[in-house]
Amino acid sequence: MNVLLLGSGGREHALAWKLAQSPLLDTLFAAPGNPGIAQVATIVPLDATDHAAVVAFAKAQAIGLVVIGPEAPLVDGLADSLRAAGVPVFGPGRAAAQLEGSKGFTKDLCARAGIPTAGYLRVTDLATAEAALTGTFGLPVVVKADGLAAGKGVTVAMTRDEALAAVRDLFATPGAEAVIEEFLDGEEASLFVLTDGADIMAFGTAQDHKRVGDGDTGPNTGGMGAYSPARVLTPALEARAIDEIIRPTVAALAAEGTPFIGVLYAGLMLTATGPKLIEYNARFGDPETQVLMPRFQGDLVALMLAVAEGRLASAPAPVFSDDVALTVVVAARGYPGTPAAGGAIRALDAAEAAGAIVFQAGTRMDADTLVASGGRVLAVTARSPSIAGAQALAYHAVDAIDYADGFCRRDIGWREVARG
Ligand code: ATP
Repeated sequence: MNVLLLGSGGREHALAWKLAQSPLLDTLFAAPGNPGIAQVATIVPLDATDHAAVVAFAKAQAIGLVVIGPEAPLVDGLADSLRAAGVPVFGPGRAAAQLEGSKGFTKDLCARAGIPTAGYLRVTDLATAEAALTGTFGLPVVVKADGLAAGKGVTVAMTRDEALAAVRDLFATPGAEAVIEEFLDGEEASLFVLTDGADIMAFGTAQDHKRVGDGDTGPNTGGMGAYSPARVLTPALEARAIDEIIRPTVAALAAEGTPFIGVLYAGLMLTATGPKLIEYNARFGDPETQVLMPRFQGDLVALMLAVAEGRLASAPAPVFSDDVALTVVVAARGYPGTPAAGGAIRALDAAEAAGAIVFQAGTRMDADTLVASGGRVLAVTARSPSIAGAQALAYHAVDAIDYADGFCRRDIGWREVARG
């Protein structure tokens, strides 16, 4: 079977790496891809915003499965365009992708379905927001821009002044909408669940590090590292999250005639009273995919096809290695501000020889040299029976890479290592 993968990040390299191992695969096409993805896929010049072109390509190349990696094409309805043309797609349509695209949509769904999440208020004007912040809500309080903001639209305010400044800033943009939320206290963990719109299948857990600096300090990023499994999400807590959060969400979307087809990535807060939903993403995480895929031992093409074709109920349960996987993101100096572009990257083979898998993100070829072309450049993943072993191996491999313009956090996995 021919498969088309859309995206160009470390997440898509990890998906491509796993898809390419499937015995069902004939040709894996990828767009726009990156040099790492090009090692296992045929890169094609397709623009995901041009739905007609993607559909025409899928038809011309007899694509049996399209895998949409990032959120933007999902929220833009690319999966709907492909499905309307009869092409099986792993990824939700526009309506179900609102779970990620609109925080207000998700909060309202949680309220209707009785899903545990932070108390909230949707606001569309500054006066209402100010009144709520001086009246209803205690401290700390969380202010979020509605819509896709790539992790940059959230303020966890410790003081009322900070919260008021955040809403004033937000409503300075015409047409802005906000969600104000009660603060949830606890440890965060990510749960991945596949669904074909009717049935569900748990697909692993992970924890990531969002802050740029060691000790979880400094500005937020897309993610500087991750590990899987997240042991803090015990089997009992996972079962609770599935029953109380995932199942009612999948059922509500199906009942509304907009079933979710793909992977639901739930950001959970493990509070004293149980797991609560912080946010949904409508696709795999980056860098969480770079630790999930090396642990997943099944056939990814077969499983994603079962999701796309509504056959999840008869698909075999996924098997994951008992090993811990840990990934260290190597970013370009300056990230998450303006990253240094064009720095040469060498000796990835030395990192692989050390036993790691190097997933590429913001890279491109400059003649014969691999160079940086984005903020997050590499994700170096190692597997080991213990978290300490995976951490040591990942850093050993990172240190074998010659990339003078790059930096990474040196403490990925610290919380899990401390738990022993
Ligand atoms: P991203 O997709 O990058 O995680 P986002 O813009 O979708 O970001 P959220 O995930 O909703 O935003 O929030 C970002 C972070 O802010 C969370 O990972 C969490 O650390 C913190 N946060 C969000 N909501 C709450 C809450 N109600 N209580 C405590 N912390 C919160």
